[in-house]
Amino acid sequence: MLLHGPEGVGKQRLALWIGQMLLCTGDAAPCGECQSCRYAVELQHPDLHWIFPRPKLKDDPGPEDVQEDLEQAAADRVKAGGLYARPGGAEGIYAYVGRMLVQQASLSPALGRRKVFVIGDAERMVPQVSSPEAANAVLKLLEEPPASATFILTSSEPSSLLPTIRSRMIAFRVPRLGDADLRRFIAEPAVREALGAGGTDEERVRMCDGAPGRLLGHEEQAAVFARARLFLDAAQGGRDRWLRAAFGQGGKGARGAFSDVLDAVSVLLHERSRTAAAAGHDHAALAAARAMRAVEEAKLAAQQNVSPQLLSARLMRELSHLGS
Ligand SMILES: [Zn+2]
Repeated sequence: MLLHGPEGVGKQRLALWIGQMLLCTGDAAPCGECQSCRYAVELQHPDLHWIFPRPKLKDDPGPEDVQEDLEQAAADRVKAGGLYARPGGAEGIYAYVGRMLVQQASLSPALGRRKVFVIGDAERMVPQVSSPEAANAVLKLLEEPPASATFILTSSEPSSLLPTIRSRMIAFRVPRLGDADLRRFIAEPAVREALGAGGTDEERVRMCDGAPGRLLGHEEQAAVFARARLFLDAAQGGRDRWLRAAFGQGGKGARGAFSDVLDAVSVLLHERSRTAAAAGHDHAALAAARAMRAVEEAKLAAQQNVSPQLLSARLMRELSHLGS
């Protein structure tokens, strides 16, 4: 099956849970108590395989090296309470991983009646495939999986999957989470620790936009909000300040960070608009709402590769009309 939906919504976590359910030997699967469940939760189950993008290994590694690399990375994720950042641009599911996958799928299950393979960010299997035999072997495996093997792919960009793969999958959409679930997630001790200080829970809920993983692996949240506040202050501090701030946004490579700052500016404006409206300051509330629209436009433009400097200069001009 294919689980698709927004990045950071928890598709791989759900896929692993389904894996646990399929391997559970208790009555109410997943019971959480049988040996199989305990192994699965710790990612120690020999029949539950989790494959996800990793930095490229040197010297055409063998299946054991690949497996060791993935097991180590998975153990780190368990240690971090199941929290991890989205993979960097150079991390991929390389051809040698495909070879390992084909080999593992041909073996019979170690404990139960089946093996489950979770392949996270499955669209990353495509661009790096430099070895056509390996790619074909994986395709064939997904087209005609052995009876004892279940494959769960996840992707936030399902349209980037090969059509031959997509057509063999039963697709399920994983929707955004509601605010109550997000608050529960943010209140988990491991999450609090990972996010550190800075930003209120409400700011974080809004920053997630229904996908809690968005809070992880971006620039430190505190730093993002600090920059967003500076940005707003600068916008209202007169022309010289906003020009300096605009040109301090950095050029290439700063794009991702810049989008994060824009998200945070949006959150701050939203709060400001709500506070103003509650206090009966209609004019200020409207101004903040108008400013939010300008930020949304800037976000769209940022996705279309307009330079951050240009965008912030333009946005600062709009925001300079915003009363404090
Ligand atoms: Zn169980």
